Amino acid sequence: MYRGLALVVYRNAPLWFSLTVTMTSISGLPLEENHPLAPLTTLGIGGPARWFARVGTESQLVEAFTWAEERGLRVFVLGGGSNLVVSDRGFDGLVVQPDLRGVTRTFQDDLCLFHAAAGEPWDAFVAQAIALDCAGIECLAGIPGTVGGTPVQNVGAYGQEVAETILRVRAFDRNSLRFHEFTAAECQFAYRQSLFNSTARDRFVVTAVEFALTPGGAPTLRYADLQRAFADQPSPSLAQVADKVRAIRHSKGMLLVPNDPDARSAGSFFRNPVVSAAEFAALAGKLGTPPPSYPAGELQVKLPAAWLIEQAGFARGFRLGNVGISSRHTLALINCGSGTAAELLALRDQITAAVFARFGIPLEMEPVLLGF
Ligand SMILES: Cc1cc2nc3c(=O)[nH]c(=O)nc-3n(C[C@H](O)[C@H](O)[C@H](O)COP(=O)(O)OP(=O)(O)OC[C@H]3O[C@@H](n4cnc5c(N)ncnc54)[C@H](O)[C@@H]3O)c2cc1C
Repeated sequence: MYRGLALVVYRNAPLWFSLTVTMTSISGLPLEENHPLAPLTTLGIGGPARWFARVGTESQLVEAFTWAEERGLRVFVLGGGSNLVVSDRGFDGLVVQPDLRGVTRTFQDDLCLFHAAAGEPWDAFVAQAIALDCAGIECLAGIPGTVGGTPVQNVGAYGQEVAETILRVRAFDRNSLRFHEFTAAECQFAYRQSLFNSTARDRFVVTAVEFALTPGGAPTLRYADLQRAFADQPSPSLAQVADKVRAIRHSKGMLLVPNDPDARSAGSFFRNPVVSAAEFAALAGKLGTPPPSYPAGELQVKLPAAWLIEQAGFARGFRLGNVGISSRHTLALINCGSGTAAELLALRDQITAAVFARFGIPLEMEPVLLGF
């Protein structure tokens, strides 16, 4: 075992993030004590992890869980930190970041199967698929985070969800300490939901995902903004659609661009609530006019959370201390510089209370909480 002190200076992080951490190596498992988590999240908020390990292989992953188990420590799995709010006091356990890498391809019938390791950056993977002219995830360009994070909440945007192209998910079962391959049906995908964030929350660590993409396939143009953008161009390429998605994201502050103050967020902070047709009718009656809505399966309606929030009195650019609402997207709560998790959750509570008081609809937050 190696144990020593190191001065760690994080790239792109304010100087006060630099601190002295203890580094330990146990049979090749790189462990760090008091590792800052804020620089590993897109919000840039939160305290340190008591222990931190970035693991590059499946056997290191097993080793990390075994190490934590022997010490009675809780373990949290971190991807790209783009859907995460870390508490100000941090996490008193082990944070494991799967850094498994590699993408391979095989062909099956008319499909190209991409086997991507969990630690691959999602946006780069999308770019790779587009460069190989494979359709199916082009509308998901510009979403931050890792490949391994995408099945967890069934990432979706601009008319596509990963559930549509995921064939299999390989995951480590923290209970049995074995690996398991899930079919798409076994993943139980729904709107921003899967087995991994619902019935089996925190039980599985995704180590690889297999996507079935369509070589030479046409891009998906289901989303109204994209249909409008290509109204005069009947056959845009995958790259053109992905570029348009990025441009729309940028205009809304939903693309990670350095020094964009609206991009210090965790993406959409609230899910769009889904209500029954009867609840929708009651709400329309109460308001005197039907609110904006989208169909969401049989006898269900999805309401835009952004509209509910604006109608409840919160405008873009709203500030509460050092946090606020993005000036370009009502659903994104941002860290305005030196925001804290306590401030962010106070803003969340103000918004959810106001929406509930006005519409009787509970808003659910989308990002995951750690250390609260
Ligand atoms: C600017 C911006 C725009 C965004 N736009 C969208 C969007 O359009 N659509 C959308 O759906 N999301 C969006 N998001 C949210 C986020 O990018 C996605 O949810 C992303 O997939 C999270 O992946 P991650 O690797 O960053 O996960 P993290 O944030 O690190 O973790 C999120 C959750 O997933 C779990 N997790 C992560 N990796 C693994 C793994 N390998 N195995 C098991 N569990 C794991 C974590 O434990 C945690 O519970 C956006 C975020 C930002 C900041």
